[in-house]
Amino acid sequence: MATIPAIKATGVHKAYGSLHVLKGVDLTVMPGTVTVILGPSGSGKSTFLRLINQLETLTGGEIDVNGEMIGYKPVERGGQRVLQTLNDKEVAAQRAKLGMVFQRFNLFPHMTALENVMEAPVHVKHVHKREARELAVAELQRVGLGDRLDYYPSQLSGGQQQRVAIARALAMKPEIMLFDEPTSALDPELVGEVLGVMRSLAQDGMTMVCVTHEIGFAREVADQVVFMDGGVVVEKGGPEIIANPTEPRFKDFLRHVL
Ligand code: ADP
Ligand code: MG
Repeated sequence: MATIPAIKATGVHKAYGSLHVLKGVDLTVMPGTVTVILGPSGSGKSTFLRLINQLETLTGGEIDVNGEMIGYKPVERGGQRVLQTLNDKEVAAQRAKLGMVFQRFNLFPHMTALENVMEAPVHVKHVHKREARELAVAELQRVGLGDRLDYYPSQLSGGQQQRVAIARALAMKPEIMLFDEPTSALDPELVGEVLGVMRSLAQDGMTMVCVTHEIGFAREVADQVVFMDGGVVVEKGGPEIIANPTEPRFKDFLRHVL
């Protein structure tokens, strides 16, 4: 039996007014794999992740998550199959399958690490507080912060704050994790601890899509490497394409980042 892709994007287009940002992106992500998206600033990487997570709406094309079309459902109307826009509740249910980590961690400053991680399970999923606490402790331990439960964001380093943000996403038990330049805002000496957490998540079998400029991470952890430029996928393949790029634009990009 064929495995259903975790994410399947087909002919994805996105325009902001007259600005055509994504111009037909096709991408398949299999369950339990790590995809790293590389590309220069402005190439549409964040837009693509935001579309997968329904923070933006598609201008054209289709994205399926675990075999289910996002944003729409097919219904029968007058003997015809038409697409109906999902309501807020249905969108929320689809979004709950995805965890997202941003460059800026956006933790609640007035809440401890533990409270930050408990927040969504309690207020979005209505998990009982005691259970949410246990879950949050476990996720904070998983990211190596079992000894920082009661620290406020201002008392944590940038790397620790980003690890809290990862724990916060994991506490919602997502099936897929999306990372948008999770280490770009960090001082260089703090990058490794966040990449280490991502690496261990990958080893645990999490399906991940990571936008990052960390070429070493891509080379060592990615199952699939995708190079985007100008709103299209210019080259994709296994991690070996980093050492042997084919497309001139990808070669150029690697020359600049390596
Ligand atoms: P990347 O993450 O690869 O740097 P983005 O997806 O953030 O690229 O942006 C791609 C292009 O879309 C850029 O030109 C950016 O200015 C534009 N863009 C992104 N978000 C918006 C928005 N909400 N409204 C208008 N333009 C946007
Ligand atoms: Mg971006």
